[in-house]
Amino acid sequence: MLPVERLERLKGWGGAVDATAYVYRPSTVEQLREAISTARETGHTITFRGAGRSYGDASLGRENIVIDFTRMNRILAWDPKSGIITCEPGVTIKQLWEYTIEDGWWPPVVPGTMFPTLGGVLAMNIHGKNNFNAGTIGEHVCAFEFLAASGAEFHVGRETDADLFHSIVGSFGMLGCFTSITLKLKKVYSGDLDVKVFVAKNLHKLFEIFYRELPHSDYLVGWIDGFARGSGLGRAVIHRANYLGPGVDPTPAKTLRVPHQNLPETIAGIVPKSMVWLFLRPFTNRLGMAVVNTAKYWSAVIGPRKQFRQAHAAFAFLLDYVPDWKKSYGSGGLVQYQSFIPQEHAEETFRQQLELCQKEDLVPLLAVFKRHRQDSFLMTHAVDGFSLALDFKVTEENRSKLWALTERLNALVLSAGGRFYMAKDATLTREAFRSFIGEKALHTFLELKRRFDPQGLFETELSRRLL
Ligand SMILES: Cc1cc2nc3c(=O)[nH]c(=O)nc-3n(C[C@H](O)[C@H](O)[C@H](O)COP(=O)(O)OP(=O)(O)OC[C@H]3O[C@@H](n4cnc5c(N)ncnc54)[C@H](O)[C@@H]3O)c2cc1C
Repeated sequence: MLPVERLERLKGWGGAVDATAYVYRPSTVEQLREAISTARETGHTITFRGAGRSYGDASLGRENIVIDFTRMNRILAWDPKSGIITCEPGVTIKQLWEYTIEDGWWPPVVPGTMFPTLGGVLAMNIHGKNNFNAGTIGEHVCAFEFLAASGAEFHVGRETDADLFHSIVGSFGMLGCFTSITLKLKKVYSGDLDVKVFVAKNLHKLFEIFYRELPHSDYLVGWIDGFARGSGLGRAVIHRANYLGPGVDPTPAKTLRVPHQNLPETIAGIVPKSMVWLFLRPFTNRLGMAVVNTAKYWSAVIGPRKQFRQAHAAFAFLLDYVPDWKKSYGSGGLVQYQSFIPQEHAEETFRQQLELCQKEDLVPLLAVFKRHRQDSFLMTHAVDGFSLALDFKVTEENRSKLWALTERLNALVLSAGGRFYMAKDATLTREAFRSFIGEKALHTFLELKRRFDPQGLFETELSRRLL
């Protein structure tokens, strides 16, 4: 029997799925091994969890032992000359950049929020708004220590153990856990980026501007208005950001300090940011978000700010400006549906997706567009193409209709040779998973599962759904 006081109800970040589990928070590898032994002795399976920032059920495990890594959060070694850092898996992206920025180094790949842990981002092999030129986070990791179900720890290097490295990174906590991670950061000469804003009046223009700007961009992202129809379907505001070269920033010692990066405490100088989700709440419905999206689009068209300098954190973590913004979605939470489509089919597939959502009256309240490149990770979500991430509000009334919509969206993705992303997923079916991963990759993955976790100790709600 496990102590009931360890029982906690955990949610996926989107709040639309949850599971009650026995939570253990080791602070050392020894305590981690003990938690694994406890699971084995009591006949429980184990789920690894970082900061719980995956949108769906990737770090949930009903009645499992959940091993939460947030107390294993020490920086173990830092070389400000080479930019190489070694961290425990619970170190967050926030901790990482706050520690290194004054030395002129920034994480080479970051998600849209700074709260995930390194273990969590490596288990999903996350991408940023610079995926088309920087690749995924795994491409910047030099090596990691990895603990298998037996309790044995392995050192895995990107060069020395290339096959294993590319199979474990992105394996969503199924093969074992990272116990330390060594990665190389990106040298920066300023705490600011040069940001430029473009407006695309429809989906075709969005693709045109992306193709035009990609060769001159370090980061590129499009924010699509999911409500626009007809000739305006897919209209978007595009943000391009570039690093400043050596000597361009007149005061790098100032901009490379943490306070310069910190997001403002108030929005518009008045509203405390912790309260903003309350103000957003009346807008997180069809009409409200149509107004917000229209206002965002037109303020970019007529607004004076077309080019400006912006701190790295402000550009990268736009979604962190409003803490708890997801609460504005109400008690049903949200799901994010992100699909990755090869470039030759991307425009047509995204057009069909947006039209289908509108036809079903399930319009995404937020839609984000990015360019990606292929990589050589076994369980990769990336393609040489584009992704569209659609945020849907979940209510009791629309839940089954929404899940049915995602199945129809899946069919469009699969017929275009597209892929899905476990970090965002809450709805994918086993058939769709098998189809995009492919039998060969799945076979290799299951062989590794038998090697590192022969008794199937590591499970999540996501793996129960998909494997
Ligand atoms: C607002 C927001 C914006 C986002 N933007 C992006 C984006 O731009 N790009 C992108 O790629 N992702 C993005 N994400 C998704 C997020 O980056 C990933 O889901 C990431 O994996 C979350 O990390 P975490 O520490 O919270 O891990 P969790 O969500 O807790 O876990 C993620 C996975 O990692 C496994 N895991 C956790 N720790 C370990 C460990 N030590 N060893 C082995 N496995 C482990 C878990 O079992 C689970 O499968 C975003 C998420 C949010 C909420």
